[in-house]
Amino acid sequence: MAETAHAVATAVRDCPECGAPVADGGRYVTWCAACDWNVDPEVRNEEPPGRVERLRRRLVRRGGEQLLAELTEFEERGEPGGPVASGEAAAPGDGGKRRGAAGGLAAGLAAAVHGVTLGLLVGGLWLIVAGWGEGFLPAFGALGLGLAVVLRPRFSSLPKAEEHRPVLRRPDAPRLFALLDEVAESVGTTGVDAVVIDADANASVSAYGVRQRRMLHIGLGLWEILTPQERIALLGHEFGHYTHGDTRRTLLVWNAFHSLGTWRYTLAPQQAESLMDHFVNLVTAPPRLLVEGVLVLLEHLTLHDSQRAEYRADTAAARVAGTDAAAGLMDRLLIADGVAGELHRESVAARTRIGGARREDPAEGLWERVAAHAASVPEHEYERLRRVAERLGHQVDSTHPPTHLRHRRLTRGARVEAGIVCAPTRVAEVDAELAGVRRSVARELVRR
Ligand SMILES: [Zn+2]
Ligand SMILES: [Zn+2]
Repeated sequence: MAETAHAVATAVRDCPECGAPVADGGRYVTWCAACDWNVDPEVRNEEPPGRVERLRRRLVRRGGEQLLAELTEFEERGEPGGPVASGEAAAPGDGGKRRGAAGGLAAGLAAAVHGVTLGLLVGGLWLIVAGWGEGFLPAFGALGLGLAVVLRPRFSSLPKAEEHRPVLRRPDAPRLFALLDEVAESVGTTGVDAVVIDADANASVSAYGVRQRRMLHIGLGLWEILTPQERIALLGHEFGHYTHGDTRRTLLVWNAFHSLGTWRYTLAPQQAESLMDHFVNLVTAPPRLLVEGVLVLLEHLTLHDSQRAEYRADTAAARVAGTDAAAGLMDRLLIADGVAGELHRESVAARTRIGGARREDPAEGLWERVAAHAASVPEHEYERLRRVAERLGHQVDSTHPPTHLRHRRLTRGARVEAGIVCAPTRVAEVDAELAGVRRSVARELVRR
């Protein structure tokens, strides 16, 4: 079996573009490292980007390149650990002033967005009270009030614990929380109040409720494919977000994005089938363009800050887990989509097996199979994914800088030794605490 796989992997043919020898990719894509032939065979049937979207992408790309150049320049001036490690000293020269101005403008713009909501609320109430009995006025008032309720700023809440998405509190997993505290402390912040676990192939931190308590989200689709040290890197990155903050994550700006998103959804053009549809689309066009414009502006004003926060979080990851583990995490992020696909296949396979020869519980060993799949991804596939990421650049996700740039930045400078290394017994203890939720999430994944 292993011999066949080896034979397939080393079968060679000529690249149809440049004639260079190309290794057969086997289960993976066959592509040419010399000329990038077939490097990205995936057909992305997204709609051709509109004018606003093209502008947004161009701004995002330029902003990202500028930021990396700025960081590089600063690091090359010999600041130990780079600007990202030294908190507010991150602002080189007048870049800091410019950024402060951008943050102020973003806050002002966000306040204006909420001002519109307040206007709808006050205007709606006034129309209802003063226009009572005057034809349609109270109805317009009610419409305004309803919109204001939908658009209102809000606190996000902690998701309800469910079988497929357990929520852990400190007493549920004391050793995990102790590890979280230790990582948090070493990046200069404090731990979390709740850990939400699901099957996603990613992780994040956020705040919830009026008191802005802290929540860590761990997707087992990512967690399970990481080595223990890469998990420390992941936690270091996430807690790094609490340490350094980010304009986009402030309540004011975050809610403005939410409000603008609702506006965009409400004003989206309809499939025009009748004359009336055309009329409605025409009437909603100016406010729609305004909303799009404000969104692009707000994104642009917060982009630098947001991406800088990511780079800083990466530096925090390297400081806690060491450069190698932080860079390893970047590689694992490249295959996160593939892991999500693998989980989907597992789920479909489990369902189609019903009624057939059902020898064993499909949830049994699910995470081990996913981890084995991830571990078997060959280097030529990683290299391909890196090149695809580079091609797509900032288009895919404008909050995180492209993974290849993050990887390059981490491995370019001096190597950092790990601040925290868990002994195998400690790793096993944390794993044991998670055994129950691993099982529960796997069971629900194959059931759906
Ligand atoms: Zn070629
Ligand atoms: Zn991040």
